[in-house]
Amino acid sequence: MILGTGVSDGIVYGKALVIEEELINIEKRQIDNIEIEQKKLQTALKISKGQLLEIRERVLKEFGRDKADIFQAHMMILEDPELIDNVNSKIKEKKINVEWALKETADQFIIMFESMDNEYIRERISDIKDVFNRIIKNILGQKIFDLSNIDDKVILVAKDLTPSDTATMNKKNVLGFVTNIGGGTSHTAIMARSLEIPAIVGLRDITKRVKTGDFLILDGESGKVIINPTDEEIKEYELLKAQYDKNKRELKNIIGKESITIDGRKIELAANIGGPDDILGVNENDAEGIGLFRTEFIYMDRDTMPTEEEQFNVYKKVIQSLNPKPVIIRTLDIGGDKQVSYLKIGNEANPFLGYRAIRICLDQQNIFKTQLRALLRASIYGNLKIMFPMISSLEELLEAKSILEEVKISLDKQGISYDHDIKVGIMIEVPSTAVISHVLARHVDFFSIGTNDLIQYTVAVDRMNEKIHHLYSPFNPAVLRLIKMVIDNGHEENIWVGMCGEAAAKKEMIPILLGMGIDELSMSPTDILEVRKLIRSLKYEYVREISEKVLNMSTVKEIEGYMKNIMK
Ligand code: PEP
Ligand code: MG
Repeated sequence: MILGTGVSDGIVYGKALVIEEELINIEKRQIDNIEIEQKKLQTALKISKGQLLEIRERVLKEFGRDKADIFQAHMMILEDPELIDNVNSKIKEKKINVEWALKETADQFIIMFESMDNEYIRERISDIKDVFNRIIKNILGQKIFDLSNIDDKVILVAKDLTPSDTATMNKKNVLGFVTNIGGGTSHTAIMARSLEIPAIVGLRDITKRVKTGDFLILDGESGKVIINPTDEEIKEYELLKAQYDKNKRELKNIIGKESITIDGRKIELAANIGGPDDILGVNENDAEGIGLFRTEFIYMDRDTMPTEEEQFNVYKKVIQSLNPKPVIIRTLDIGGDKQVSYLKIGNEANPFLGYRAIRICLDQQNIFKTQLRALLRASIYGNLKIMFPMISSLEELLEAKSILEEVKISLDKQGISYDHDIKVGIMIEVPSTAVISHVLARHVDFFSIGTNDLIQYTVAVDRMNEKIHHLYSPFNPAVLRLIKMVIDNGHEENIWVGMCGEAAAKKEMIPILLGMGIDELSMSPTDILEVRKLIRSLKYEYVREISEKVLNMSTVKEIEGYMKNIMK
């Protein structure tokens, strides 16, 4: 068994088709005629553009605009004047052939991206490689491997699959795919989830271990791959698959039902999203609203700040598609592990304790005001609530609210309409905020607890540091007490309290949170039905006892052990 990163759910068993990496043999040559080389580049760019337009159209028809935008981005790389100039001047100055000039330019770009301390940007490398390979192949007149021609049912095994490979795949015949490299936020992974085929990435040397014709079992949830399984393993797999399919069917039956305990306590189950791309999953999984829209993704992966109009269109689309369900949009939370080059945050010794989120917005108010204007203008299209991240004191909250008031007044003056009764809440992710939540509750309409950060700040454990990951647990008694305190303080002031950190979907945490009186849980859309199923099997009276017991325990081990035992 080999373990990788499961990026798209599902269990399959089938024959492998190893896609050999087509080595493009490029040699460096000295040339005499600069013009001929430059002309070759121009022609190849034109052909490549035509191919990309075709792929874009196909993807637009099958998967919609958001997925098609991946190929719009490819066209932007293709048409980037910096890139074209770079290649042309290499041909001219070094008198080298166009393929080599392209290779050098690609390497330059890739090295620059690889050195970036940001997973999301690093994963764009496959997009760059995809575009450059296309241009080079078009110059060499090589056929571009077309996955739409596969006519046997297979599991693809590849070093990496480019986004255009995934987009052109014949879904009927590709049962799943596994790759040596890649991560969960790569465009390839995103496409796999849209295609709804199981996929596992990051398997290091899977292309060396598997031969075409080998049989594979793939479990896209756990990230497990079994090569040429024994009869026993196949039997086990069949059972697992039957269970998985049954569970999927059962979960489908839960669509449209309430998230309510046996004895009638209702909880709202909302979705966390990163952009309009995720709305499909939100609807498919019957989310009761959006509990967290991480707007920073709109600011990432580009060179300039998104304009008010661009933001307005994105917010409007999300709010309108969900209407009348509530949509909580969080204002910009950049900094920490999420960097944006044009914001010039600079290197900090402790970025998670540094210039981040609301701190940036209060400092660079033009950025904040633009976002607030876009949000307010979009508020008339449905049920929008605004949420501020990383609030650590009452002063910050009051300042953020007063800027919001300023923006409202300026819209009033311009006669632009917005929801005058818009609800405003804050994330509780800094311990100082939890401690004074009784004060803050008087100034907001809701709280949403962000455990991802609350744990790291309470226990002083960097959420990104693998070495100390064992210390990072939502079952930490200090964290649990803070959560209980926030819920009680919120209720004391008659506001609702939700949670949008990863802990909100953790099976063993749910009875505790429910017992503490949480009102809303927001999570990845794919977790919603599972959590609803669990809630519908619980009794509020019983979970209240559980949470009381847990709050009297003193160690993570004791709490986790107790919960695991109950949930067996
Ligand atoms: C959190 O901190 O729990 C949270 C939801 O915010 P993010 O993960 O975006 O920091
Ligand atoms: Mg956070």
